[in-house]
Amino acid sequence: MLARFWGVTGTVSLPTPATGSSMPAGNTTCLGLEWPGRTVVYDAGTGFIRFGEYLLDLMAQGHEESRSIDLIMSHCHLDHINGLLFSPLTYDKRVRITLRACPATLSALHKLLDPSSSSCRTFLPSTFPDMVAIKEMVTVEPGSSFNLGDARVETMALRHPGGSLGFRVSLGGVSMVLASDNEHPGPGVDPALARFSEGAQVLYTEGQYTRREYDGLDAIGNGLPMPRKGWGHSTMEDCVATATAAGCQRLFLGHHDPLRPLDKLEALGIAMKDLAGRNGPLVEMAREGQAIHLG
Ligand SMILES: [Zn+2]
Ligand SMILES: [Zn+2]
Repeated sequence: MLARFWGVTGTVSLPTPATGSSMPAGNTTCLGLEWPGRTVVYDAGTGFIRFGEYLLDLMAQGHEESRSIDLIMSHCHLDHINGLLFSPLTYDKRVRITLRACPATLSALHKLLDPSSSSCRTFLPSTFPDMVAIKEMVTVEPGSSFNLGDARVETMALRHPGGSLGFRVSLGGVSMVLASDNEHPGPGVDPALARFSEGAQVLYTEGQYTRREYDGLDAIGNGLPMPRKGWGHSTMEDCVATATAAGCQRLFLGHHDPLRPLDKLEALGIAMKDLAGRNGPLVEMAREGQAIHLG
């Protein structure tokens, strides 16, 4: 299984940093999982537009007349769907997207995009009938499991305003957990996420803040310090504790705060790696464009 990180920034995308800026360029959440005969995409933030370029290029090289994609979605916040709304892939009749999400996410998408909904066209001119690549929408109840080809996919409800769905994709004896967005129930290990991630080779999750930022003691970038409890995001330190408790081999932290300068992000990556120590997972700040092999 090959995982590609098409977008790992949280909240808003900053695709083109201002000249001289120390801000990182970054697309919002979209990860790809590939194995022979299957292309799975997790979330459709602006990284989905990069993924679309990659896929259409592959199709052109292989002279493919059609291509099926499985899109698994955590939730419907704008930073996780805006790539789906604006990628040319979504409007390409050669592409067949099966979209799987929890009932709340599907209901929200219908309100936004179903022409029979009273709020459709409030925010967007295009609607589901225009999005010809979306061939099927499948409801996934939190806690349920399903198969994608040879892979088994388990799900769990995460803690996030409006809800969010975590996925564990297992294939050939290796597992990758995808858990964004999620706020831990308190300082330290998130017991539910640790159980769900037990023994997974890779945990991709979000640690948007440090503990001090979350508690309102430190600012991010040039902003004011402010408490962030209840905003639906976790601290890096708690993610390290959770991945350690789960026995994961590698931890990737994503959903980077878009206001955090790149040099600070790199320094925090080193600090979190040190925090995990020898008995914890190998910790990395997820980088856009990164690809990792599992198994
Ligand atoms: Zn988000
Ligand atoms: Zn969210």
